[in-house]
Amino acid sequence: DKFGIQDSLRRLGIKSENIGTSTGTQWIDTGGEYISSYSPADGELIAKVQLTTKEGYEQVISSAQEAFELWRTVPAPKRGEIVREFGNALREVKADLGKLVSYEMGKSYQEGLGEVQEMIDICDFAVGLSRQLYGLTMHSERPGHRMYEQWHPLGIVGIISAFNFPVAVWSWNTALAWVCGDVCVWKPSEKAPLSGVACQLIIAEIFKKHGLPEGISSLVVGDYKVGELMSHDPRVPLVSATGSTRMGKLVGQAVGARLGRSLLELGGNNAIIITENADLDMAIRGALFGAVGTAGQRCTSTRRLIIHENVFEEVKSRLASAYSKLVIGNPLDEKNHVGPVIDKDAVHGYLKAIEKVKAEGGKAVVEGGVLSGEGYESGCYVKPAIYEAKNHFEIVQHETFAPILYLIKYSTLDEAIAIQNGVPQGLSSAIMTTNMREAEAFLSVAGSDCGIANVNIGTSGAEIGGAFGGEKETGGGRESGSDAWKAYMRRQTNTINYSSALPLAQGIKFDI
Ligand code: NAD
Repeated sequence: DKFGIQDSLRRLGIKSENIGTSTGTQWIDTGGEYISSYSPADGELIAKVQLTTKEGYEQVISSAQEAFELWRTVPAPKRGEIVREFGNALREVKADLGKLVSYEMGKSYQEGLGEVQEMIDICDFAVGLSRQLYGLTMHSERPGHRMYEQWHPLGIVGIISAFNFPVAVWSWNTALAWVCGDVCVWKPSEKAPLSGVACQLIIAEIFKKHGLPEGISSLVVGDYKVGELMSHDPRVPLVSATGSTRMGKLVGQAVGARLGRSLLELGGNNAIIITENADLDMAIRGALFGAVGTAGQRCTSTRRLIIHENVFEEVKSRLASAYSKLVIGNPLDEKNHVGPVIDKDAVHGYLKAIEKVKAEGGKAVVEGGVLSGEGYESGCYVKPAIYEAKNHFEIVQHETFAPILYLIKYSTLDEAIAIQNGVPQGLSSAIMTTNMREAEAFLSVAGSDCGIANVNIGTSGAEIGGAFGGEKETGGGRESGSDAWKAYMRRQTNTINYSSALPLAQGIKFDI
C-alpha cells in the first residue's frame, strides 16, 4: 500500500462493506444489494456499498420532512455556524478525503486535494452568506404602505451528482442549501459512492455534537433508479442534478411534469479560441491542462481549439511536442500528469470517438490508444489524443468524456466565435489574445454564448465565488457563488398597510 490508501480509508471510517443509506448520524440497513467500487487507478476493489431500496428512500424522505420543520426555524447565521464547523472538519481530513477522491475517481492527488479545498471554500462562502440572503425593499405606490421581499427555504433539496467531482458538487449545493434553511438528500454517482459515504460520516460528527435531528443531510446510494425516485417525488421541490445532457433531459422532464424546480448542470463542449495575437506560451499551457487534466473528464475540459490560420501550424507542433512529454500513470503518484478514465465504458467511448473522427475525415496530430502493461492493469489508461477536425463533424458536436482534443482552423474572429457557439452545449469558453478589441468582442453580446467566458485563462478551473453553469444543453442552472443561492429559496413579496385606509393598487375604485 505504497500510497497509504488503507490508512486513509480507515481514518475516514470506510469499511469493506458500508451501508449506503443514512439520515444523518443513523445508517439504515435496507437489506438492499451491495455494489462494488473499484479504483480505475489499479483496478482493485476498494469497498462495497449497500444500495438504497424504495423503503429506505421513504424513510429518508420522511425523516427529511420532519427535520425541515425544525431546521427552517433555526436562524440562518446559526445554520451558518454548523457549515463553518463542517468546513473546519474538512480542513482536518483534507489529505485523506483528497486521496479517496483520487483513488476512487482517478483524478490526480493534487486535483483530489483541490476538490476538497473547493468544499472548504464553499463552506466559507456559505457562512458569510448566512448573514446575507438579502431581499429588496420597494417603494409602494400607496400611501402608508411598505413593500418588501423575503426569501424562505424550499424544503427538501435532492442532489444528484456525477462521478467526476464526487464530493465538490455535493458541497456546492448542500452548503448553500443548508444556510438557506433547506434539508438535503444526496445521491452520489454510483461510480464513486464511497466518496459519498465518507462525506456523510464527516458531517454526521457535527450533527451529533450539536444534537441536531436526523434528516438535515441524508445519503441514498444507487443508480438512475434511485435518482428517478427523487425526480418524480413531489415532496422534493428542488432537484439539483449534475451529469450528462441525456440524464438532464430525463430529470428536467420528470421534475417539470410535476412543476417542481430543477437545477441542471450538464455536459459541455468547451473551446479556446487562440488568435494570432495570443501569447502562445500561455495558450499552450492553458490548452494542455484544459484538455488532459482529469484525463479530459471535467465538464469544463477543453475539447476544441479554434486556432487562427497564421498560428495554426505552430500551435499544432508545440502541442504535439508538449503531449509527447506527458507521463501517464497512477494518479496518486505525483510525477504523473495524466491518470485513468473512470471505467472500461469510458475507454470504449474514447475509442469509438477516435474511430468516428477519423471516419468523418479527421487527421491525427497525436494518435490515441489504450495503454497496457505494468501500471496499467486496470485497463482504464488512455493516451491523450489530438485530431484536426471540422466543427460540423457529428463527433465534434458531441461531448466525449475523455482526453481527446480537436483542432479547428479559422480566419476571422467572427468565424471563430460562430464556431465556438456552433455546438449544442454552452458551458465554458475562452479566448487567448493580447488584443483588447478581440477580447471585448468575445465577451460582448455578440460573443460567446456560454455561461463562462474567460480571457487568457483556459476553460476549466472555475473559482467558487462566481455562479457556475452553462446555457443551451448544459441546462441553464447556476450553482456556487454570486446569487446562485436564490435557486434554493422561494421568494415572497410582502405588502404591509400601516395606514387606516385601504386604497387599491392601480387606483381602482371599489366603494359601496
Ligand atoms: P451521468 O449522467 O451518467 O450520471 C450523473 C448522475 O445522474 C448519476 O448520479 C446517475 O446515477 C444519475 N442519473 C442518471 N440517469 C438518471 C435518471 N434518468 N434519473 C435520475 N438520475 C439519473 O453522468 P456522469 O458520467 O456521472 O458524469 C459525466 C457528465 O457530467 C458529463 O456530461 C459532464 O459534463 C457532466 N458534468 C457537468 C457538470 C456541470 O457542472 N455542468 C459538472 C460535472 C459533470
